[in-house]
Amino acid sequence: MSLTHLGIPVDQNTEFETVIGLEVHVQLATNSKQFSTARARLEAGKSVTDEAVNSNTTPVCAGHPGTLPALNKTAVEYAIRTGLATDCKINLKSIFARKHYFYPDLPKGYQISQFDLPICEHGHLDVELGETGEVTKRIGITRIHMEEDAGKNVHMSGFSLVNLNRAGVPLVEVVSEPDMRSPAEAGAYLRKLYAIVTCLGVCDGNLQEGNFRCDANVSIRPKGAKGFGTRAEIKNVNSFRFVEKAIEFEVERQRQVILSGDKVIQETRLYDSQKNQTFSMRTKEEAEDYRYFPDPDLPPLVISQATVDAIKAALPELPDQKRDRYIKDYGLSRYDAGALSSTQSLGQFFELAVKLSGTELAKSLANLLIGEAARLINDAGIEIQDSKFEPKAFADLVKAIADKTISVTAAKQIITILYTEGGDVGSIIDREGLKQVSDLSLLEPIIEQIIAANPKQLEDYRSGKDKLLGFFVGQAMKATQGKANPALLQELVTKKLKG
Ligand code: ADP
Ligand code: MG
Repeated sequence: MSLTHLGIPVDQNTEFETVIGLEVHVQLATNSKQFSTARARLEAGKSVTDEAVNSNTTPVCAGHPGTLPALNKTAVEYAIRTGLATDCKINLKSIFARKHYFYPDLPKGYQISQFDLPICEHGHLDVELGETGEVTKRIGITRIHMEEDAGKNVHMSGFSLVNLNRAGVPLVEVVSEPDMRSPAEAGAYLRKLYAIVTCLGVCDGNLQEGNFRCDANVSIRPKGAKGFGTRAEIKNVNSFRFVEKAIEFEVERQRQVILSGDKVIQETRLYDSQKNQTFSMRTKEEAEDYRYFPDPDLPPLVISQATVDAIKAALPELPDQKRDRYIKDYGLSRYDAGALSSTQSLGQFFELAVKLSGTELAKSLANLLIGEAARLINDAGIEIQDSKFEPKAFADLVKAIADKTISVTAAKQIITILYTEGGDVGSIIDREGLKQVSDLSLLEPIIEQIIAANPKQLEDYRSGKDKLLGFFVGQAMKATQGKANPALLQELVTKKLKG
């Protein structure tokens, strides 16, 4: 018997298409919670969950009978900012709804969310794809609604405790259309959305603390199928790379389920990054199960067009605008400019450094920042501002490369040193002996020696084996312990080989 999926025959050779829709929970960086006066945010880098257990709660957070929620105005403003920055329609009237489920960390027995009428709808954002970011794809945003976070269950041996410090922290949930077709597209969407909310200042963007976490809905269908397959939802992944890996795993799992004649079931799955696998957590509730209804404690949220217009007028420069400015003002490539504008912190750092180095060295700065520096920062999962890197050090580095004091290789070495201990570039160059040798009287005898020691290669070179130039340059570079100015060395070796 032959297998079919969505009405199309499938077998081992069938090409499947991946369909992905993302739901992102963005924690809003307001001082107080969504509906109470308890703190939602401490100073940067500290989370309310780090505070003494249950010290940051009010009767509202704990769902005491008789308490009433009072909406946080700043959270509304942040939700509108997010909607405007993603080209959403802002609904001047939106409704808070109760979404019911029973969990110990949700003492009211429901979460306040928005359902029928969310605050923002019908937006989109453009992501750059391909090696150099040259392809743009538009991903639809279905809706952005406001809601509150739950508390946290702490499981001990034999019993569990509940910490309500986080209960009621304001969130917006950004729901995308099922428009993405690969893990890379999902990653690009998440990075762009992250760039936008951090740039807007509506989210602190601490991924470890779960300030920005993603549920990935994944299904597959045979290429050419019209409808969508059944989706699985991978819950709460808070790293861009893990989202990509989780989707990759899930696609292959679903392919095998389908090819073995089983059906993909609609369920919630969890991703285990250690095992690089997803696991079933529970079958998925349908909207009906949540018994949504308008929260009688909260009147409809009514906003004036004038308020929306004022928020719009005050929006900061967005990542795409910043990218275009970097291309125009500094002559950077689209790829470099995009990478530098991908987080608020990297862009700020770059701009401070380029002020000190001069615009003509912007390209060189971009190379160092996107390459070596970003790798170290990303591996550590921190922001560049929280590292030992200083804009001045990077300006000094590119100046030292430009005036040929050091090579690019030495600069990379210095970046590693700056990362671990910080410090002054000039002193590091001296201390580590990284000054480039551009002195002819030093380089010439070294080259002559090497040529004299390799007569066979010299003969071959002279009889047309041009490739041997690299051999001689390499030997000479080695003899200077990598400190020779590479361009000068190449020029000198060529001259000497010609005799
Ligand atoms: P729920 O809250 O029940 O998960 P939502 O409608 O809020 O439902 O979110 C559904 C998400 O799943 C959206 O991001 C949507 O784009 C995505 N989605 C819907 N159907 C599919 C599908 N067949 N395959 C992949 N993603 C899907
Ligand atoms: Mg969902």
